[in-house]
Amino acid sequence: MNFYPDIVNKVEQKSEESVLQIKELSAVFPNGNGGLQALDKVSFSVSPQEFICVLGPSGSGKSTLLRILAGLLNPTDGKVIYQGADICGPRRDIGFVFQKANLMPWRTVLQNILLPLELENIPALEADRLAREMVKLVGLCGFEDTLPRDLSGGMAQRVAIGRALVHDPHLLLLDEPFGALDALTRERMGTELLRIWQVRRKTVVMVTHSISEALFLADRVLVLTPRPGSVRLDFSVDLHRPRNDEIRYTREFNDMTRVLRNAIG
Ligand code: ADP
Repeated sequence: MNFYPDIVNKVEQKSEESVLQIKELSAVFPNGNGGLQALDKVSFSVSPQEFICVLGPSGSGKSTLLRILAGLLNPTDGKVIYQGADICGPRRDIGFVFQKANLMPWRTVLQNILLPLELENIPALEADRLAREMVKLVGLCGFEDTLPRDLSGGMAQRVAIGRALVHDPHLLLLDEPFGALDALTRERMGTELLRIWQVRRKTVVMVTHSISEALFLADRVLVLTPRPGSVRLDFSVDLHRPRNDEIRYTREFNDMTRVLRNAIG
């Protein structure tokens, strides 16, 4: 396949620079019929503070990959090395945001964001300070005492992002966090996420269906093949930062959109 070789840049990273290394990862789900292979030898590395987006057709194993990175699922083969050690279970220093905010309906915005700190027995005063700081960062000042039922979808996702970041994980995993939002809110949330990332500078791996979201946010975009997913394209997004909405209307952005669209097939 011809992927406009002038702007496609295969990124080969040295392992010593990587915070996260994914090595020959395969995942097979038992289905009583020889097994369903979701991932096939997926390999890539992530540098500290890098923002990676994973694109691919539906069913290509994107969520499976993310769940393995989070330690929520064991791979059938291969391994994930995070900060020099194998991931073999959920970890405190990894934050996860799902497509649905999954807030506790009886807890207010502040109380939802406080949850990870309570689970870690952080002293109440310090926890309160950290949670209020996070409420501010995700743009929810004034809504501290609001219950989830009174929040819009975008606001609920802001709480979910705040909850994932409040205990200061180094790695943030996002699985289609804005997938359930309308197009305009989704775009705004992308801009917000970028703002938050610029303040907190986490290493991020995010699954999305949206090419423009991936290009707007990421340093690199990985495109998976149809199932079983493997890395078809490792694409370096050479757009200057900080980025603002205007970048979506530039020629480079359009050219890159076409490359990724072709790669998804
Ligand atoms: P994507 O996120 O790219 O849409 P998924 O990772 O959700 O893809 O799923 C990849 C494939 O694995 C799909 O065919 C899906 O049906 C299958 N799959 C995912 N989770 C399970 C599971 N727990 N048990 C069996 N099959 C699964």
